[in-house]
Amino acid sequence: MSMFCYQCQEAAAGTGCTAMGVCGKTSALANSQDLLLYTLKGIALFNKEARIHMLDTSEADEFIMEGLFTTITNANFDYDFFSKKISEALQLREKVKAKLIENGIEISDIKNDAAVWLTDKEKFDEKAKTVGVLKTKNEDIRSLRELIIYGVKGLAAYVEHAFNLGYKNAEIFVFIEKTLVSTLDDTLTLDELVALTIETGKFGVEAMALLD
Ligand code: SF4
Repeated sequence: MSMFCYQCQEAAAGTGCTAMGVCGKTSALANSQDLLLYTLKGIALFNKEARIHMLDTSEADEFIMEGLFTTITNANFDYDFFSKKISEALQLREKVKAKLIENGIEISDIKNDAAVWLTDKEKFDEKAKTVGVLKTKNEDIRSLRELIIYGVKGLAAYVEHAFNLGYKNAEIFVFIEKTLVSTLDDTLTLDELVALTIETGKFGVEAMALLD
């Protein structure tokens, strides 16, 4: 299997695209999108900390929103765009990390691989194969995590459009980042993930209202 994607109703055999997307997405592109998403989660881990300490989070807020939007079905099929975006995401993650350190904020307990992985651009494809949907082994946890991620991607699409029209709701950024971080948390129970899925739906309605 060279990729795994089941984020839309066109998924091959109703279960998932594993060699190439029915939508036309190549496996390299699908994996790059997975790696971008993974890196956004790493940024969110540090940006959440920056927010707690009242530092300016706007650059990462906007980057995460835009990054999520680019990974929705049929939004962008440009492999080079995603390679560049992953490099930018890594730079931004390190920038947020440096800002925390400069401000004397303790971050040594943020050790998740999404927060620390770093490699040359030439090895992005290799790394990308290890961070996709199937990284979560438990099927129930995986399904809930992905349901939440797809909800958050949809939310980001609404928020990006509203943002371009001059509207912003800081609460939605907070929720998006809290949620991305939650999908890395192996201590969350099924019940907690179900509650988060429902909360994602509620924020989806708020984001639609913002766009409206
Ligand atoms: S987005 Fe593309 S690759 Fe993913 S499930 Fe849909 S058709 Fe398949």
